[in-house]
Amino acid sequence: MKIANLAGRAVAICEEGAIDLARASAGRIDPDPSLLYARWPEVRALELDPTTAVAFDPKELGPPSPRPGQVFAIGLNYGSHAAESNMAVPEVPATFTKYPSSLTGPFAEVPLRGAAVDWEVEIVAVVGAHADRVDEADAWGVIAGLTVGQDYSDRHVQFAAGGQFSLGKSFWGYGPTGPWLVTPEEFADPDDLELWCSVNGVEMQRERSADLIFSIPRLIAELSKITPLWPGDLLFTGTPAGIGATRQPPIFLRPGDVVESGVEGIGTISNTMVAAS
Ligand code: ZN
Repeated sequence: MKIANLAGRAVAICEEGAIDLARASAGRIDPDPSLLYARWPEVRALELDPTTAVAFDPKELGPPSPRPGQVFAIGLNYGSHAAESNMAVPEVPATFTKYPSSLTGPFAEVPLRGAAVDWEVEIVAVVGAHADRVDEADAWGVIAGLTVGQDYSDRHVQFAAGGQFSLGKSFWGYGPTGPWLVTPEEFADPDDLELWCSVNGVEMQRERSADLIFSIPRLIAELSKITPLWPGDLLFTGTPAGIGATRQPPIFLRPGDVVESGVEGIGTISNTMVAAS
């Protein structure tokens, strides 16, 4: 099952187009995509009629979970990225947040608000249950699905004042996700997906999530030991090697740059950088 936010309404995506979930459920499911995950078992049980699907413009897609209560993000979760950053591999997940106001749609323009903005393609897990102290072995059961994310990062703000990752990654529009959520059973192995990122058509990042230091189930277990997870919460799982800041010389994003980010079995998102007004 693929679930998306189409112009602010929850839809399922099929080959024929988009099926409106409020209509398909005769009004039982609220059209607001942010309310979808609290009723996830009902969403999963819907019988969808592909003849009711309508064609749509991908530009109208928004974030699959647009107003999460919590957004977790993990730093240094691929050995390749820890090595390029000259940082030790952490013994526990290096956790910060992207404030929900940074979230935007998969094809949104991103207004650049600094001279050191960098790309980080990531697999993003969306929580589909109230999850308190979940065992790693049960963790896929509380995940609604996976989507593609970009953790755009202002490296100056991120490393100011001894390090303020949350703020440096939370400028307005620095957290696109999409184009849709794909449920875990759709993947041959949801723990081994290729992810990649290109800037102006030049490949910058490519790796597989089997290389994650802390796998997605392990992250769910570690985080939910400390704080319950809520339906709709997001988990940005970390980026592999190939960011701009560690290149010689460093490369940062400029207005007009096009960043494409993809994950195997999900799809590709694309953001054009624009000058901030
Ligand atoms: Zn990141």
